Amino acid sequence: MMAQYLGLKAGVPDCLLFYRMGDFYELFFDDAAAAAATLDIALTRRGVHDGADIPMCGVPVHSHEVYLQRLIRAGHRVAIAEQIEDPKAAKARGSKAVVARAVVRIVTPGTLTEGALLDARASNWLAAVAPTPGGIGLAWCDVSTGAFRTLACPAPALAAELARIGAAEVIAPEGWDGHPAVSRSARDFDSEAGRRRLQDHYGVATLDAFGQFSRAECGAAGALLAYLDRAGAGAMPRLDPPQRVLADGCMAIDAATRASLELTRTPAGRAGSLLDCIDLTVTGSGGRLLADDLAGPLTDAGAVNARLDMVAWFAGASVVRARTRDALKAAPDLERATARLALGRGGPRDLANVRDALAVALALKEMLTAQDALGLPALLGATLDGIGAHGHDIDRLRAALVPEPPVDAAKGGFIAPGYDASLDELRAAATDGRRLVASLETRLRTDTGVASLKIRHNNVLGYHIEVAARAADPLLRADSGFTHRQTMAGAVRFGSPELHELGLKIAQAGDHALAAEAAHFEELREGLLARADIIAATARALARLDVASALAELAARDGWVRATVDDSCAFAVSAGRHPVVEAAQRAKREAFVANDCDLSEHQRLWLLTGPNMAGKSTFLRQNALLAVLAQAGSFVPAASAHIGIVDRLFSRVGASDDLAAGRSTFMVEMVETAAILTQATKSSLVILDEVGRGTSTYDGLAIAWGVLEAVHDGLACRCLFATHYHELTRLSERLKCMMLATVRVREWQGELVFLHEVAPGAADRSYGLAVARLAGLPAPVIARAREVLGRLESQRDKTGGLAAALTDLPLFAAAPAPPPRDALRDTLADIDADTLTPRAALDLIYELKRVA
Ligand code: ADP
Repeated sequence: MMAQYLGLKAGVPDCLLFYRMGDFYELFFDDAAAAAATLDIALTRRGVHDGADIPMCGVPVHSHEVYLQRLIRAGHRVAIAEQIEDPKAAKARGSKAVVARAVVRIVTPGTLTEGALLDARASNWLAAVAPTPGGIGLAWCDVSTGAFRTLACPAPALAAELARIGAAEVIAPEGWDGHPAVSRSARDFDSEAGRRRLQDHYGVATLDAFGQFSRAECGAAGALLAYLDRAGAGAMPRLDPPQRVLADGCMAIDAATRASLELTRTPAGRAGSLLDCIDLTVTGSGGRLLADDLAGPLTDAGAVNARLDMVAWFAGASVVRARTRDALKAAPDLERATARLALGRGGPRDLANVRDALAVALALKEMLTAQDALGLPALLGATLDGIGAHGHDIDRLRAALVPEPPVDAAKGGFIAPGYDASLDELRAAATDGRRLVASLETRLRTDTGVASLKIRHNNVLGYHIEVAARAADPLLRADSGFTHRQTMAGAVRFGSPELHELGLKIAQAGDHALAAEAAHFEELREGLLARADIIAATARALARLDVASALAELAARDGWVRATVDDSCAFAVSAGRHPVVEAAQRAKREAFVANDCDLSEHQRLWLLTGPNMAGKSTFLRQNALLAVLAQAGSFVPAASAHIGIVDRLFSRVGASDDLAAGRSTFMVEMVETAAILTQATKSSLVILDEVGRGTSTYDGLAIAWGVLEAVHDGLACRCLFATHYHELTRLSERLKCMMLATVRVREWQGELVFLHEVAPGAADRSYGLAVARLAGLPAPVIARAREVLGRLESQRDKTGGLAAALTDLPLFAAAPAPPPRDALRDTLADIDADTLTPRAALDLIYELKRVA
């Protein structure tokens, strides 16, 4: 057995091996030590290997999922080795023969399907990165739903894409060091092999029908398939055909911006994020789709408006909306049930889930289609069209299954009576047999005169007769007709030929019934899987209905409005609110102050001043969130809004220690600011909060100054810039599209009162000492600070202070012009090296020489 174990273990050196022995998964050697430590279970010993005891621990099969979850969470990978033959067959080979076992599955964070191991409302992505000289190929899939996507992007955009996807597991070729990832052999990422793997998987001769995949994308997608093949030991999950995602189809939001805006999670998790605040979906798949939408707001105004039309329709139809949501609440998770069935990990409960979800889908389709008189928006119509004709599937499952079947098929009892006459007969025989056993018991009591005689059943003896030890004598007599089986502390157990006969009959009927049920399960499963693509489309439709009706519910509940979204560079919000801060204020029974924001061309850059705690960050972020919400297809918390499509969103908040990455606060801030200055376009929205705070006053001011000029003159994008450097307000003399705004405060009887109101103009002073006092700095310290401040300010009167030198700056000299475009660079930038034939490359060289 150890030889078999070691052989299996050698095939999965990077995994903990769960070795099936009866009702347990056992772990040995280092695996046992690691698992026992993580799971806090007893480490024992079993047998000897190379002269030393073998450490061992085990988890029961019936409850192994919780242990699996903890091991995966702790960063382990687990290989599961099952017995792949009947132990009886092994015995037949010889008394010492070991039951054949094989690794049937490798469990990793990105390949989970079990409901217990997954968050119902979050996708569980597995991503593959294929770096090539011509760019990065990305492929990602969720085996728990079948979603499968690919994307080609330039190397610098990779981090942002990975941040958007938020994969549970990332795989990459050995030696690649771009992002924490599981290393796989570089061969798995070969683009030609990948293309073939995709073609084989989908049984197609060419991938053209699915889209034009770049070589890098094929490499990544192929690596995913190879990884899944190994993880499932050949059992492949059902995957939708890969869907190409266009890199510019979504608002580009880099990892730092995503983190600072807390779109789908905060450092503490999902709670407190924008997603958490707006999610009123009632199904798991709806929750996952909303998370997806919010993580990747669209950049196509037409597509955004199609979503908004659908939300508006539900917003205007409160009765239909309520009925839709009630119906959806009863819909089980169709995607996950189908995925488990496809992988052979599903049970009767999953079949019933498919049945019930399909029934909801059909009922909804009928109900919503009947509203046609009101005119359905295009996306709603298309969504309803996505719900297939499932009447037959539902009828069949309804006839076959009991209303609430068990999770597990092993014990049977899930096929409805009346579905299969021969199964009914087998069940009747078993029931009949049990009735006969009961009457045999009564008869034996009379015959033997032992009133306490009982017929019992257990797994070792099967059916047997049990009597109290003191009453056993009559049955122990040689001519009693009973055979002694077992003597216990207070009881003796017997067998009898008649009982044996009956027991056999019951067991046989039971076995046959179980086998018949298992065969039905298989048939129903295969019937559904043959239609998996149509079912998947229905599942997507349900998710879309859930998201649209949930966003409409939110809009109606909280008074949100539809933004006008178009291709302009407008950004005009009246009475906007920050949804998350507003919710927090509401919980504290405090009012949130709504604020306007207008970044029209002549004032596209706002310089916002005001003391700490006034509400600057809140205002900045709320406007970024409004753009995200609108382009994700949601209404927005405002009285009205007009938002021209934002292609890239940048949010930087000065000073937040990234010690983990080993970079100083200031360095991080500068790296991030540099990214904005090189990547933002005229259609971008940039939010800069206290840039320059991480360094000395002079440096900080100087950098903030330079950045402001660059944003204003160079990028010419929409920008909100918060600062406590009042000196910067002087820039408004020169920067024609810059507007000064301040968050108002009032000092009242020596107390600082925050009004949270954004108004034109600059803050008159910084109120630092007032804020410090508010924060509870001891009075003597405040008093001393006031003294120091007095001195500094009198000095300033003499020297002109920090801003003095600025007077000498050539304020009206324009910032240096960007380098002129040059034809050679343009041509070079346009080359897609990966797609060049040698002939075309030669032509290009001639062309380049000509341009030069
Ligand atoms: P700053 O960036 O100016 O230091 P914040 O934006 O962090 O200030 O806001 C500080 C606190 O003020 C917030 O946590 C919130 O409780 C409150 N606040 C901010 N804006 C508003 C508002 N518009 N209405 C009501 N309360 C607000």
